[in-house]
Amino acid sequence: FKKPGMNIIEELESEVRSYCRSFPTIFTQAYNYILRNIDGREYIDFFAGAGALNYGHNNPKLKKKLIDYMMNDGITHSLDMATSAKANFLAQFNEVILKPRGLKYKVMFPGPTGSNSVESALKLARKVKNRKTIMSFTNAFHGMTLGSLAVTGNKFKRDGAGVPLEHTVFVPFDNYYGDEVDTVDYIAKLLNDKGSGISVPAAIILETVQGEGGINVADYDWLRRIAELCQRQDILLIVDDVQAGCGRTGTFFSFEEAGIEPDIVCLSKSIGGYGLPMAITLIKPELDIWKPGEHNGTFRGNNLAFITAAEALTYWENDELSTSVNSHGRTVRLFLEDLARKYPEMKGEVRGRGLMQGIAFGTDGLADQVCRVAFELGLIMETSGADKEVVKIMPPLTIDNEGLMRGLRILADSVEACSN
Ligand code: PMP
Repeated sequence: FKKPGMNIIEELESEVRSYCRSFPTIFTQAYNYILRNIDGREYIDFFAGAGALNYGHNNPKLKKKLIDYMMNDGITHSLDMATSAKANFLAQFNEVILKPRGLKYKVMFPGPTGSNSVESALKLARKVKNRKTIMSFTNAFHGMTLGSLAVTGNKFKRDGAGVPLEHTVFVPFDNYYGDEVDTVDYIAKLLNDKGSGISVPAAIILETVQGEGGINVADYDWLRRIAELCQRQDILLIVDDVQAGCGRTGTFFSFEEAGIEPDIVCLSKSIGGYGLPMAITLIKPELDIWKPGEHNGTFRGNNLAFITAAEALTYWENDELSTSVNSHGRTVRLFLEDLARKYPEMKGEVRGRGLMQGIAFGTDGLADQVCRVAFELGLIMETSGADKEVVKIMPPLTIDNEGLMRGLRILADSVEACSN
């Protein structure tokens, strides 16, 4: 696979590189759910930039807005100055997302990445409650900066990095012990027991579907009970919707169907809409106690991302995308369940919500092997889970039926190839 360009990457790019090892080819072009490499070979994209490309590669509606804006000398960078692109995004977010859901949040621009949003959420929660402890969950993933890593479950990601863990308490996520332990009761008992050694946290941070941690889905009822527990104990609830948000699970926010209203919400990845770096942190108005400039950063005003973000929200002006995500999600689920039944020796377990689906294999290394074979056959997928035991299915939400079935058929062929 040593095509022109790969040599310089292997020679010069740090050993920390990962995805270019999993997908060892030079990509040049992309459209919706198709990626094309330097030889013109097409790959179906069931990865979608780890959830950053919910509206597909080079979405034509978004691209047109961007090109028009640039041709008109629109401002690209402006720190956090007031620009028409920012004002337009905020107005659109309010009209299309917040108001119809009866939600009231202030919108903070914490920096360009999901980790920036998580950092801002943790800092704010601690300021508001004047407590340092944060409660997080087994298999949680919240980012790669030291603060966000401190609430990330995967020990491998923290090894040797001097992550300040003294203010984190990890507790079991929903279904961590199967049906054996009611984890909400477990947490409530820890909080109410003076002898548990656990300080009341400023906040509980969670993903409604753990993306990097293995597509672990929290039941709606569990989410409601966690939200009630937070209320009872005066703890803030932070939902990290960086990966599960922006429609990935079938609704714009992943927590909508549970009927909960988190105090703070983190969004990034697909909020920019076009794969452009952008993040927002939503804050209940009464919690917005930031003093001006207390949290800042150079890239809080990516106006190109504001332009595509505002246009992407038009997808949420009606139910069309939502309906299609749910219907495609069901197709994927049935297909995966069939696969699991066909190869019982692989001990496949299907889980997910909307177009955030996964199949966990009970055999070591199998998920990784399936992804490698799939790549050879023209399908891009990644693994997740602490032991990389889950094959993740996360195509752009704009994928059509034909693309979805093409990808699923390659997945089936890959599983078959790995079955003996
Ligand atoms: N939170 C969640 C749930 C994520 O999935 C990710 C990224 N995988 C992050 C936070 C961190 O986002 P970023 O990589 O943009 O810093």
